[in-house]
Amino acid sequence: MPGPARKSAQPDPGRPPLPEVDARVLARLRVLSVTPPQSLVIEGGCAPDRLAAAMCWARLLNCAAPGERPCGVCAVCRQILDGVFRDLLIVDKAFFEAAKAEDKTGTDKVRELLPIWGQPPHGEGQRVSLFPEAHELHPTVANLLLKTLEEPRPGNVFVLMAPQRERLLQTLVSRSFVLTLPWPEARAPEPDAAEWIAALAGFWETGLGWFERTITKGGLDRDLAQRVVLGLQRELAAAMTGGGGNLAARLARRGPAGLRRLDLALVQAQEALSQPTAPPALVLDWLATVVIEKTPGGTAARGRRYSTS
Ligand SMILES: [Zn+2]
Repeated sequence: MPGPARKSAQPDPGRPPLPEVDARVLARLRVLSVTPPQSLVIEGGCAPDRLAAAMCWARLLNCAAPGERPCGVCAVCRQILDGVFRDLLIVDKAFFEAAKAEDKTGTDKVRELLPIWGQPPHGEGQRVSLFPEAHELHPTVANLLLKTLEEPRPGNVFVLMAPQRERLLQTLVSRSFVLTLPWPEARAPEPDAAEWIAALAGFWETGLGWFERTITKGGLDRDLAQRVVLGLQRELAAAMTGGGGNLAARLARRGPAGLRRLDLALVQAQEALSQPTAPPALVLDWLATVVIEKTPGGTAARGRRYSTS
């Protein structure tokens, strides 16, 4: 008996298949579920992989079927899959949008969850609270979460998802068990994007050859600019974990603080490029400048520069 479509107007032409979870990840989660950590950080993979693992975790901790869990077919597993399980809280973009629609701040909306987290779950399992974009939480929300994790919350577990653990508050990570999903295949960018990425990385090191390029070389459309930013994000992810090739190694020389700045700049560039009005060349020019001017020993910072006099 399928429940009423209470929560979202999601099209339901037949049941969607269960999202795939890597067999090794599932095995790991099964072991963890024996004594579930109060907070689990899921990093690595891509956003849908992380969410699939988190939802699997919720099913694992609540599945009502005897035998191997999660069964994926019992009422609880189905409700979790549909996002209507009463012991599943999802603090995602839609949650914060809903807050806005109610004229509340995201912080207020999260504050409303505090008494819930102070209570045991309704069902036999665990109340699972998911934060799919934990790396984008407002600092006050992240701090509320931290306070929540500082106390025992019987029957409540939390899952924080982020591309890399470095993008979360260190104090949150230190209170959590970290599960690292297999990193996405480091696909080489297409030759056109690779050429722009190389030019940008070269400019960050030498201060040469970038602006001439965006001025004179045509063909930098939004799609290409987005692939350049995405390619740099992959290199950055590799640099943060000590992997990757030549470019990742060059980026890694910036050190943790430099990598974090680059990370923030790439996120901002990505957001800007998602606006149809932002000229792609200007966004990449901004990226070129904002990253170079803070590079220690950068030789050719243009424009604003920190002055010691
Ligand atoms: Zn089940």
